[in-house]
Amino acid sequence: MTWQEEAGRDLVRSFGERMALFVRGEGSYLWDADDKRYLDFLAGIAVDSLGHAHPAFVEAISTQAATLAHVSNYFATPPQLALAATLKRLAGTGDAGRVYFGNSGAEANEAAFKLARLHGGAERPRILALKDAFHGRTMGTLALTGKPWMQEPFLPMTPGVEFIDTTAEALEAAMDDRVAALFVEPVKGEAGVIDLPEGFLAAAREITERHGALLIIDEIQTGAGRTGEWFAFQHAGITPDAITVAKGIGGGFPIGALITFGAASELFYPGTHGSTFGGNALGTAVAGAVLAEIERAGLVHNAAERGAQLRAAILGIDSELITGCRGRGLLLGVALRHPVAKAVVSAAQEHGLVINAPNDETIRLVPALTIGDVEIDEFIALFTAAVRTVEDALLLETSSEISDRQGAPA
Ligand SMILES: *Cc1c(COP(=O)(O)O)cnc(C)c1O
Repeated sequence: MTWQEEAGRDLVRSFGERMALFVRGEGSYLWDADDKRYLDFLAGIAVDSLGHAHPAFVEAISTQAATLAHVSNYFATPPQLALAATLKRLAGTGDAGRVYFGNSGAEANEAAFKLARLHGGAERPRILALKDAFHGRTMGTLALTGKPWMQEPFLPMTPGVEFIDTTAEALEAAMDDRVAALFVEPVKGEAGVIDLPEGFLAAAREITERHGALLIIDEIQTGAGRTGEWFAFQHAGITPDAITVAKGIGGGFPIGALITFGAASELFYPGTHGSTFGGNALGTAVAGAVLAEIERAGLVHNAAERGAQLRAAILGIDSELITGCRGRGLLLGVALRHPVAKAVVSAAQEHGLVINAPNDETIRLVPALTIGDVEIDEFIALFTAAVRTVEDALLLETSSEISDRQGAPA
């Protein structure tokens, strides 16, 4: 039996067909079972911040596993306390911040949803979220996710969430004193790497504050330095009431967190939330080591610089198909003229490049924050080859359509 047949038989069908069987990785490279090498510009969907098998990651996981992995939240451990302090410092909460640990992005957003309900109580049953933003796949976070097609098979949703257009005017029109919170995804990654309109976060801060609603920013994909700041909200110079993080902070180890600012830090009280695994010594030691390495190696700055370099190189590719590049830092979305993103992903894979298509007209690039000239040059060569392959196929299609229409023999 081939691995594809095995996967088809044994794995849940909620994911499409697996594209490859990867057996090992190192830095920005992956190897499949046939020992074919791939340049990885997906990094496990913005998760592998340090690339694969980074010595700091390996060392932290090995040492902590040999010391103490898990004791439950009846107790504290040194790596947990250290990571909470680090996250507060990087997010800029000051003393009045607190951290709740979970094991994924969805769990971080579930905690944020409960935070919003605790803040809202009976007087503020409304929660606002942005159309097209993605917040997770659990029932609570799906209710926050403004994609009707994702919700549809699972109706009814948890009530109270309303979706608005991503403009200050729409927010102002929807807002009143019965709103508990506004959820914002600062770059809509899953929707196709869509940037917020200029000034939106500042307006959102002002409007939510005026009405006593929480501003909760989902930094699950944008956090941990990816956009060229530790967190994307920091580009706007605002202070939110809470942010959620996951993906990149663990560098491949599953961990998520809700970080609260100011008065929002006092909303949870004993018994209101919890998680067995959340914040265990192993996970927090690894995330602590990943963040320490991002800091030591200046990878937030690298994300900003390499992001600009990568964007310029992409826009320099001579191609009819590429129409632009969205996003920030090393969270980039290459916009295509035709709905052929899936074909570009397949062609890239043939050429030994791993990328992904959040929709039919966008290629998402979220490489490790460690990339340099070598990876960028190789990416441009492989990506250009993949784009050419698809352009050639499109030309063939167009010419055969023309000859079909002219009734010419095939
Ligand atoms: C990935 C993602 C989530 C969900 O995280 P999981 O770890 O898959 O549960 C939520 N919000 C955003 C913005 C994400 O990118």
